[in-house]
Amino acid sequence: HNHIDHADLAKVHAAIEAGDTHAHVPEYQGFATYSSDGGYARLKDLREGGNWEEVQETVLSSGLRGLGGAGFPSGRKWGFVRGNPGPRYLAVNGDEGEPGTFKDRFYLEREPHVFLEGMLIAAWAVEADRCFIYMRDEYPAVLEILRREIAALEAEGIVEPGYIDLRRGAGAYICGEESAMIESIEGKRGLPRHRPPYVAQVGIFNQPTLVHNVETLYWVAKICREGPEILSGIEKNGRKGLRSYSISGRVAKPGVYLLPAGSTILDVIEAAGGMAEGHVLKAYQPGGPSSGLLPASMSDVPLDFDTLQPHGSFIGSAAVVVLSDQDRARDAALNMLRFFEDESCGQCTPCRVGCEKAVKLMSADSWNTDLLEELCQAMGDASICGLGQAAPNPIRLMIKHFPEEI
Ligand code: NAD
Ligand code: SF4
Repeated sequence: HNHIDHADLAKVHAAIEAGDTHAHVPEYQGFATYSSDGGYARLKDLREGGNWEEVQETVLSSGLRGLGGAGFPSGRKWGFVRGNPGPRYLAVNGDEGEPGTFKDRFYLEREPHVFLEGMLIAAWAVEADRCFIYMRDEYPAVLEILRREIAALEAEGIVEPGYIDLRRGAGAYICGEESAMIESIEGKRGLPRHRPPYVAQVGIFNQPTLVHNVETLYWVAKICREGPEILSGIEKNGRKGLRSYSISGRVAKPGVYLLPAGSTILDVIEAAGGMAEGHVLKAYQPGGPSSGLLPASMSDVPLDFDTLQPHGSFIGSAAVVVLSDQDRARDAALNMLRFFEDESCGQCTPCRVGCEKAVKLMSADSWNTDLLEELCQAMGDASICGLGQAAPNPIRLMIKHFPEEI
């Protein structure tokens, strides 16, 4: 489970608000260092006479895809949003609720201005009237850093006061689903909307809205400052680009590791210092609980967009959790479904009731696989959003790869 003790969190927020930031806010690259290193020069040039279609072309040629997890080509979204009449908005998804994912936090706690410049370049490209940053409340240090650095941008005249609206999430996983996030930004309960229409057409207050994840915008700035080759120039196992893998579980050094997108689980484990002492790789979650568990035998598959779909999984936000011979895959799969049961918004029956029934069936000593498959079919076919549609993945992968445990 991904639950945070909200009493402890309230204490950290109170300490920061009282000015006691020393203990909680890590060292990071502030405005002065970033701008003296050429930061915001690219944004300034673009604002003074850049061609947004040229920048879009640069982003497309880099191969940048949505790093929240869906991998939609980032530059294409700009065209969709720009193609609709304004006012237009930009919304940053910083909710990072996927269990095992902590890469956005990693970048924001180190280089917040790379992200902020990327956001302002994207906002310029789609002529956004306002930017909303929807930030995970369980990241109090990140909120404090963003508050300070947005104030610096206002003081330096890079943005008008109020142009960047920093919003706090409230611990609901579903508010990371883009349309639920938009409902929440509008001040309503975070319930996913039906799509289409896509948010590029009908987003915040029914206006065209560009939604990007934090890390996607971080790379927009890098690409615009250093060229598309920083991503397109890297190739491994037939895949191009880089992935920020968040690695946890039975490895020696859990953390965020930036590796070629064609990396396999063995490469990822090696980067994390190898397996923890005394543990042997048994299974791994490649990208959040909806990607389920793959067996150690699948160790030569590149962990990238598109490569895992044929195996009933996906890379998502690259949240790799490593399990060992000392873990039971069925316990992890049950934990995943319990998480979905807790976090389902309850709006549609196949997901609300389906997750609950799945947890019951998966808690039995021996699984009724026929009934579970029927349930998976209904959930996948009839749920409104990705939560209910992808919740069957961990169940199906258990049946396929770990039959001896169920
Ligand atoms: P999606 O494929 O439905 O959409 C991806 C993006 O592309 C959206 O912004 C959508 O609006 C846009 N899009 C897609 N088709 C379009 C079209 N025809 N016209 C205009 N825009 C279009 O995926 P999703 O439901 O947004 O995201 C699912 C992913 O989110 C999963 O892979 C999961 O890994 C990930 N996820 C990540 C986190 C996290 O913390 N980072 C949390 C939960 C889920
Ligand atoms: Fe809510 Fe689940 Fe339906 Fe998504 S699939 S709208 S989370 S009930």
